[in-house]
Amino acid sequence: MKVLVLNAGSSSQKSCLYKIPDDAPLQEAPQPLWEGKINWTQDQGGAEIVVEKSTGEKLRETIAGDSRQTQFAYLLQTLTSGKTQVIGDLSEIDVVGHRVVHGGQSYRHSVIITEEVKKAIADLCNLAPAHNPAALAGIDAIEKSLGNVTQIAVFDTSFHATLPDAAAIYPGPYEWVEQGIRRYGFHGISHQYCSQRAAQILGQDLAALRIISCHLGNGASLAAVANGHSIDTTMGFTPLDGLMMGSRCGSIDPGILIYLLRRGDSAESLDYALNKASGLRGISGISSDLPAVITAMNQGNKRAQLAWDIYVHRLKAEIGAMLASLAGLDVLIFTAGIGENSAAIRQAVCEGFGFLGLKIDSEKNQNQPVDADIATPDSTVRVLVIHTQEDWAIAQQCWELVKSR
Ligand code: ADP
Repeated sequence: MKVLVLNAGSSSQKSCLYKIPDDAPLQEAPQPLWEGKINWTQDQGGAEIVVEKSTGEKLRETIAGDSRQTQFAYLLQTLTSGKTQVIGDLSEIDVVGHRVVHGGQSYRHSVIITEEVKKAIADLCNLAPAHNPAALAGIDAIEKSLGNVTQIAVFDTSFHATLPDAAAIYPGPYEWVEQGIRRYGFHGISHQYCSQRAAQILGQDLAALRIISCHLGNGASLAAVANGHSIDTTMGFTPLDGLMMGSRCGSIDPGILIYLLRRGDSAESLDYALNKASGLRGISGISSDLPAVITAMNQGNKRAQLAWDIYVHRLKAEIGAMLASLAGLDVLIFTAGIGENSAAIRQAVCEGFGFLGLKIDSEKNQNQPVDADIATPDSTVRVLVIHTQEDWAIAQQCWELVKSR
């Protein structure tokens, strides 16, 4: 089965093509046959296209025009022609899977996309304004280029559909519950993949493990996973809640917002401040990029030091909260850009949990671990660094859904 996966962001569209045997799913993520990305970050309209085949052939082109549909159709052509060709015709694609950030309360699992599903994704655009519209644009673009191929939506919220009410419901007015104002949680595709991969790496039954998954990228969230299900998570109604992030503040006293609104700040300026001008970027005044903050900190920059200190403090505090929800811990997972690459963050966080008997081997931690256990043999908690494979997880879910029909 050939599965095309689309992962749409506001300024880019990542796609990849996987081939999965029809009779049995693969145990480990294969290399995609083809990976393509469109960046819409050019100043003068137009787009940059980067394509790579599993055999190494690469293509990088800037294409003119401002129709995203035309640019996307051009990207798809690189599947069937030129040096990055991997298939003879687009009709060889059996199914297209889309990452959809917000599925609201209706979608607890991946679904085949129908007009009704598209409407539901559109209705949720105000809750995920940077992401859901981009996913819809991807779905439309596929309809135009591939006709009525089966399309599947895989939601970032679905994995958290199992949150108990006590974790999901905000203690605001009860009407909020009826209005759908609750914790949804995000990064579910990554948290679910990493939990399953952890069980696989350790050779243990997922159902027997209490896991805290730390997805630390530009956006960052934790999930507490028991019995293979998410029982608590740090992102909330929107992806703004929880941990300090690259440019998002995470949890803050909501009274600050009332104060700022009464002072005359507009909703738009608060949106910008909380989403774009906070977090590592806001505190350090340097960058939302952790390595740049660390470099400045090592040069004695006080605001960079403060940004680091808050980041680590918030991370430890939220892990502590997940620990209490799980009533214990077997596995701590680090994943995504910071989780996979920053030995310093892993060390600073793990030091805070030494009292549990959690110990990491500093050599293993420094040695760019990938899908590896960095805990010492006598540690009471396994500490895994896992390369998140969201696109592969989407492809697997598509395979399963198509096979179950
Ligand atoms: P996204 O949420 O956009 O998918 P990623 O998972 O790619 O993000 O993570 C991006 C983050 O990873 C950035 O903050 C970047 O600074 C961080 N990062 C990348 N490489 C390193 C590194 N070697 N050390 C620390 N942080 C890193």
